[in-house]
Amino acid sequence: MAGEPQPDCLFCKIVSGEIPATIVRETETTVAFRDINPQAPTHVLVIPRVHHPDAAALAAAEPAIAADILREAGQVAADEKIVDTGYRVVFNTGAGAGQTVFHAHAHVLGGRGLQWPPG
Ligand code: IMP
Repeated sequence: MAGEPQPDCLFCKIVSGEIPATIVRETETTVAFRDINPQAPTHVLVIPRVHHPDAAALAAAEPAIAADILREAGQVAADEKIVDTGYRVVFNTGAGAGQTVFHAHAHVLGGRGLQWPPG
């Protein structure tokens, strides 16, 4: 059923605590933790506790939680002190765009200059 934990989902296992992660923020609906392969000095993932395969599916099914993800991304940026220098919030969507974990997540990247367009 949509939103239910998926047995083979890495991020569902981080939500449940089965797989450890360096958690930086938690709310009733979200978990934020450091990316295991950081692409910038700050690289934090913000995920919903519920399972949806990507950000668009999350927003369609549970728009309030999609808004929580965006709010938490901003809080992470504030906590990491990267607001003044600028930061990026990225939702890779689909394998062709580099999505490798099919549980919705926002990347919060900052702490270095970021180029546009991204690769
Ligand atoms: P995607 O490629 O947009 O799907 O992002 C998935 C992200 O999850 C990648 O940046 C990975 O480095 C990250 N990742 C994979 N496994 C772990 C983990 O166990 N802990 C934290 N981050 C992870």
